[in-house]
Amino acid sequence: MPWYRTALRERTPTLMTRGSWTPWTRRIGLTAAAAVAAVTLAGPGTAQAATTTAATATASVSAAAAEDVDYATWQRDCQAVMDQALPYLKQRIAAASKGEKQAIVFDIDNTTLETDYGFSYPSPANAPVLKVAQYAQEHGVALFFVTARPDIIKPFTQFNLTHVGYDVTGLYVRNLIDLFKNVADYKTAQRVDIESKGYTIIANIGNSATDLSGGHAEKTYKLPDYDGQLS
Ligand SMILES: [Mg+2]
Repeated sequence: MPWYRTALRERTPTLMTRGSWTPWTRRIGLTAAAAVAAVTLAGPGTAQAATTTAATATASVSAAAAEDVDYATWQRDCQAVMDQALPYLKQRIAAASKGEKQAIVFDIDNTTLETDYGFSYPSPANAPVLKVAQYAQEHGVALFFVTARPDIIKPFTQFNLTHVGYDVTGLYVRNLIDLFKNVADYKTAQRVDIESKGYTIIANIGNSATDLSGGHAEKTYKLPDYDGQLS
């Protein structure tokens, strides 16, 4: 398995042994996409060139991933969840009490970024989620990102999120000790930390059950992970 799959995965060891993870054809697609992205990053490319390459990589990965769930289906499924989230958020943001500091917590991989379908660097935003996030940030809501990614790639992750349009108030990544903790417990602890800074978490949005269990959010919105196929 390529290093980035190991580094970015948020799946539990139990799921890893089930044999339901990425088919080999998809891994090849991801590797090819990563190679294209790496070549561009190594050269004197402009932002435009990077964007073009990302689009190419997305197409390549989507084709390889199609035997599981195709990109259009994934996007439709994400949009359906965000169609429920946005009306709630509009109403909840409008009803903020005086002095209330509202926040939304997001997972990153296959939630705010197209990790599996658009593997490249920077990864494209997951458009239905970005739209909701941008409504929130334009209305004074702080966006926090809580990921199982290790802290060694924090600067790259922060750049990626900002580059595609998210206003990052806080980014929580796992340090060495956190890597040995249960992912759901680790993520819950970060939400407690956000609350301790005076924020009210009006929604928690993620694609894995471990993103959302443990409370400390007024509402949770679950994007698809297709039985653990998407980290
Ligand atoms: Mg995820």
